[in-house]
Amino acid sequence: MIDLHLHSTASDGTCSPEELAERGRSLAVMALTDHDCTDGCARFLAACGRDKRDTPVQVRLPGIELSLDPGEGYGQFHLLGLGIDIDSSALTTFLERIRAGRVARNVKMMEKLTALGMPVSMEEAQHFAGGQIVARPHIARVLMEKGFAKSVSDAFERFVGKNAVAYVSRYRPSQEEAIEVIHAAHGAAVMAHPRFWTSDARLLADGLARLKDFGLDGVEAIYQGNLPLETPMHLRIAREAGLAVTAGSDFHGANKPSVTLGMDVGDDEAFLAPFLDALSRRGCHFLQN
Ligand code: AMP
Ligand code: FE
Ligand code: FE
Ligand code: ZN
Repeated sequence: MIDLHLHSTASDGTCSPEELAERGRSLAVMALTDHDCTDGCARFLAACGRDKRDTPVQVRLPGIELSLDPGEGYGQFHLLGLGIDIDSSALTTFLERIRAGRVARNVKMMEKLTALGMPVSMEEAQHFAGGQIVARPHIARVLMEKGFAKSVSDAFERFVGKNAVAYVSRYRPSQEEAIEVIHAAHGAAVMAHPRFWTSDARLLADGLARLKDFGLDGVEAIYQGNLPLETPMHLRIAREAGLAVTAGSDFHGANKPSVTLGMDVGDDEAFLAPFLDALSRRGCHFLQN
């Protein structure tokens, strides 16, 4: 079992980096991929280093998930940066710009909610955020606690989800720039959950061929939220594009209660070999353990 897509309290998950390290101790390979921040990575790696190991091979990677401009005709583009050097100055400068866009967007959403008679302050949202990232699930949580919504998903449906009344979009970097920054930080650039980018096999194949030319390394072809037929389709399209594949759950703890940690990929080492090759080509330093 492996899992290359996990969120901690450093962004919008409800488990601390240490809890993730502990809960994933039987996984051969695991990466922490918080939204727009790497603040949980050092604690995650330190906790993984302390734990007794249950598997012969154990690779633990610092990572990140970035929301990018999806391009005309596509839905959402999320990029995973895996095995990144979290001290890279190219990466830290880039993330500061993204986080400034997130703060500006949150202020506008709170103004809209207040105008709708549902005041939410930054302090209230920060109360539910474990770190510096305030994301829509934290705003949704405030709406729930104040009785304006029945649950986080109800708050998304009626108020903060895409197309809902208080939604405001935020700054999204280009695919080319984000891939370049991940490579400058010696990580592998992997498209997360391709199903949210497009459900059209042709658009996916065309898009991935173009992204491969920009240097995209892989695709999260095995995703816990996939429909049964999507996984074989994504594996085939990734293989045809010459891209490595990864597997991830997108675990968020209690913020996405139906998602469980760990993905069964059969033979872990055989499945991940092309991805691990890509990581070493990019100069990733985290493969020794
Ligand atoms: P943001 O980055 O602030 O735009 O928030 C996006 C995050 O909201 C995603 O990463 C998801 O974790 C979460 N999210 C999106 N839709 C829902 C939903 N319907 N229910 C719960 N969480 C959601
Ligand atoms: Fe999230
Ligand atoms: Fe995502
Ligand atoms: Zn995610």
